[in-house]
Amino acid sequence: MDFSGPAAGEKPHAVCLPFPAQGHITPMMKLAKVLHCKGFHVTFVSTEYNHRRLVRSRGARAAEGLPGFRFATIPDGLPSSDADATQDPAALSRSTMTACPAHFKSLLAGLGRSAAGVVPPVTCVVADSLMSFSVDAARELGVPCALFWTASACGFMGYRNFRPLIDHGIIPLKDEEQLTNGFMDMPVDWAPGMSKHMRLKDFPTFLRTTDRDDTLLTFQLHQVERAEDADAVIINTMDELERPALDAMRAITPAVYTVGPLNSLADQIVPSRGSPLDAVSSGLWKEDRSCLQWLDGKKPGSVVYVSFGSVTVMSNRELVEFAWGLANSGHDFLWIVRPDIVRSEEAAVLPPEFLQATKDRGLLASWCDQEAVLRHDAVCVFLTHSGWNSTVEGLCGGVPMLCWPFFAEQQTNCPTPAWSGVSVWRSATTCAGRSSRRG
Ligand code: UDP
Repeated sequence: MDFSGPAAGEKPHAVCLPFPAQGHITPMMKLAKVLHCKGFHVTFVSTEYNHRRLVRSRGARAAEGLPGFRFATIPDGLPSSDADATQDPAALSRSTMTACPAHFKSLLAGLGRSAAGVVPPVTCVVADSLMSFSVDAARELGVPCALFWTASACGFMGYRNFRPLIDHGIIPLKDEEQLTNGFMDMPVDWAPGMSKHMRLKDFPTFLRTTDRDDTLLTFQLHQVERAEDADAVIINTMDELERPALDAMRAITPAVYTVGPLNSLADQIVPSRGSPLDAVSSGLWKEDRSCLQWLDGKKPGSVVYVSFGSVTVMSNRELVEFAWGLANSGHDFLWIVRPDIVRSEEAAVLPPEFLQATKDRGLLASWCDQEAVLRHDAVCVFLTHSGWNSTVEGLCGGVPMLCWPFFAEQQTNCPTPAWSGVSVWRSATTCAGRSSRRG
């Protein structure tokens, strides 16, 4: 793209557009803060729904912004709601594709018009890869667009390989029986960028459908294929950890920049606790601060930390299975049970016998400062759904992970057998010291 950048003496201005879910907003906020600290004026775009949630969970100050770091909002296209719950991924995928492009374009045009005053002209768009319509919006404005893939490189290539899997006639499935008759164990040792040990069931779960037009299958495939049109792709991973997948990505789209682990990068660059930038937040749930105090009272290496991220939902029967598993483990545990963790038609009910049996050694909370928890000496194991942010945070905390993937590319992130490199990464980063205290 023929673009000359900011005028002399003017700050570059990045418009950051996350996909409207917590696991996407958190890393985009970290990246936006890093850009701000490196001299960018930042406009951080939230959906109106999430902006209201942010104000409720963190207070108006968290969403006020600072000089040079402003918030803006666009509608998400879904019916208005004030629930404090993650929106349905399929509905959100459809609505962001259809409703957001026009709103985003008009926001960009408005920011352009205000350029004469305090706000410098927009010089680039940094959008979540799942908001790839931003490439067109940036092109219309005549500025470059970097797409930020917030998940793993093996997740990206897992979705990208949906195309050859379709071309080979492997997906969509012929019938639902293929989910249970051993078909999903089929080795797939030829997929570019993937481990030679992959089986069909290790690919992102959206291929488990008999419908070629399934919303999440077509949505994810579309988004990863559009990455080719971006000026750059940014990804929260490390070359030492995911080289084969990154090599395959770079064969398709050369300008791939690894910025992971983003939490460590942000820790190094962004001013720490108490600074005005620290008060700018992206958390959609209220954090239960008592979790850290509770951990302070525990012996080093004694607590199992359990969290399944911000989107996963399960049946109450599954919740109760996890409960008894934790009770029978005999270990102390901190378990994050979001108010919306059980599917909406059911209620989350834990048996009183479980609560009684674990009252002296278990703490249930609806949300915590997970990064701080994973850095806490008391935590010995992380039972995780293998969401990518949690995986990177667990690696940085040096905490062994017990993986129970639920959906999307969590199955692909799960360390065996589809994936390798943790030991390489641990020895290659400054976080390695943390792991040694746990042996
Ligand atoms: N998280 C948190 N507090 C909690 C549970 C989760 O701050 O009690 C954060 C976690 O640190 C991570 C994000 O929520 O940054 C979840 O993202 P991930 O990619 O792991 O999973 P997703 O929510 O997208 O499934």
